[in-house]
Amino acid sequence: MKRLPYFAASLLAAVLLGAPAADAAPPTPNYAFVNGQWWNGSGYEQRTVYTVDGLIRSKRPAYIDQTFDLKRGFVIPPLAEGHNHWLEPLKVDDYNACYLADGVYYVREMANIPLLVDQFRDKVNLPTSVDWVSAMTGFTGPGGHPAEIIGQMIGMGILPKDWKPDYDKQAEFVVSTEKDIDERFPLLLEQHPAYVKAFLLFSDRYEENLNNASIKADARGMDPKLLPHLVKVAHAAGLKLIVHIYSAADFRNAVAAGVDELAHFPGNGYGVIKSPELFQITAEDAKAAAKAHIAVTTTLSWLGKFKESNSPSYEISRDQVLIPNMKLLKAAGVRILIGSDQFRRDVVPELQSLRLLGLFSDAELLRMDTETTAQAIFPNRKIGKLQEGYEANFLVLDRDPAANLDNLSSISMRVKQGRRISVPASAVSRSSPDCVQGKP
Ligand SMILES: [Zn+2]
Repeated sequence: MKRLPYFAASLLAAVLLGAPAADAAPPTPNYAFVNGQWWNGSGYEQRTVYTVDGLIRSKRPAYIDQTFDLKRGFVIPPLAEGHNHWLEPLKVDDYNACYLADGVYYVREMANIPLLVDQFRDKVNLPTSVDWVSAMTGFTGPGGHPAEIIGQMIGMGILPKDWKPDYDKQAEFVVSTEKDIDERFPLLLEQHPAYVKAFLLFSDRYEENLNNASIKADARGMDPKLLPHLVKVAHAAGLKLIVHIYSAADFRNAVAAGVDELAHFPGNGYGVIKSPELFQITAEDAKAAAKAHIAVTTTLSWLGKFKESNSPSYEISRDQVLIPNMKLLKAAGVRILIGSDQFRRDVVPELQSLRLLGLFSDAELLRMDTETTAQAIFPNRKIGKLQEGYEANFLVLDRDPAANLDNLSSISMRVKQGRRISVPASAVSRSSPDCVQGKP
């Protein structure tokens, strides 16, 4: 047999012996973190933690590349944004920097447009970026939400000027029949969505509003009678159905149809002031959601904006709708996820808004976001806890965020998959909660 050249022989030996080839990626360093106070979901434990191959280990590995003295710093899992839309592809570098600066490693998009996602797909899900999933194109009804937002984006020049309403298939799936769903669903699967999104808005009035031109897109969505079929089709594809709800009737219709999650809180947004009663759910509604293990995402950042502007809507929304609804959901044991739906922001202002309800301690909110929401976004990953074998994703802070969420501004180290990540100082020290400024 002819002798193999040296490099080929050594490569073969490396493969056979399982040793890394010369050009393999360098291994993740083994670190020891000493003198840290590590969050356990309800309090802190002082312990030494090792990170090996990007995972958290309690046992000291055979060798350690470096030891970090955390000087009694507070260590928590990263934050998660449970509802947003990255609609400005040219600014995705800024979004990544801003989210990571704030300690937000995970984002779940509740729909986006393939044309936009194709412009930034390679800038997310990197060791040094935010981890991202999306519902991609959502299902709505004729003339329904979010057509008005798509129209605005065309006006801003983010989307092509020649797109004509109703944007069916380009930016949303407009469906009136089960056949419409069946025709469009394969197009959604080509986009590799993480789940399926549908829009309900005042769904009890779907029929009567259908031909009423005075009802705008921000008050109409999909025919609720189609939901059970969409649930069936989504589940057959192994995907969850997550539904945009607006009124109490939407909450009821979605729960009755067997959906998996609700992407908003009942009593969400600016319509609440006119008729609070349309947004008040009942104890039976809350119990039905709990029984079906349906989680609800908050999206209540607007409440903080109402407060800042001294809006008269603030107290009506908070006291007549949001607090009673949240009390019912909490009492029934409904899983609450945290997401902002504020396009230019992340989840930190959402946490601040949730404090205004006075129903959760800062420690509870921290856990709801870093654990419950993170695990809902990536159900197949070991994240959200600082335990043996979990991904080595964590933040070190100078001051305790569980005692006061304002202390989330004191992050001194960010570790992602076992490596420290750096963020631009401009993102850390920015003066606005917004991640980007200026025109899109
Ligand atoms: Zn949204």
